[in-house]
Amino acid sequence: MKELLQNLIRLQGLELEEIREKNAAAVIADLRTRIPPQILGHYDRLMARGKKGIVPVRDQACTGCHMRLPIGVISELMKAEDIQLCDTCGRYLYLEETVAVATIQAPPTDAPPKRTKALRQKKAPSRKLSAGPGSSARKRVVRKRTAS
Ligand SMILES: [Zn+2]
Repeated sequence: MKELLQNLIRLQGLELEEIREKNAAAVIADLRTRIPPQILGHYDRLMARGKKGIVPVRDQACTGCHMRLPIGVISELMKAEDIQLCDTCGRYLYLEETVAVATIQAPPTDAPPKRTKALRQKKAPSRKLSAGPGSSARKRVVRKRTAS
């Protein structure tokens, strides 16, 4: 079930171009074959209306419509045995922590693990450490008047 959520989230990310991957179209096609058609159908209907198909739960509320969710839904989400829908807006729900754990534990099974990591390092640490006002302040101290 976690894997299903994962696939949905990834699919949405790719389709909304929140995630950028080299062969996004191929990944999307692959993900679509893994998601059960009825779930995909519902997801597609939401997306067609310009809504997100799957949204995270925060503070026990759906981040799609900001309605508070019944505790039963939350506990089902924590069990992660079945996919849950928001009663109000009909979006699929997931708990970020549940899915984050799944990301580490469930790598894609049929893809060969040739991951070249850290090849593209776009954001270089460009934060410059300024010397601060220390140097000029020091001079002033040295030049202290010696009143005699
Ligand atoms: Zn909702």
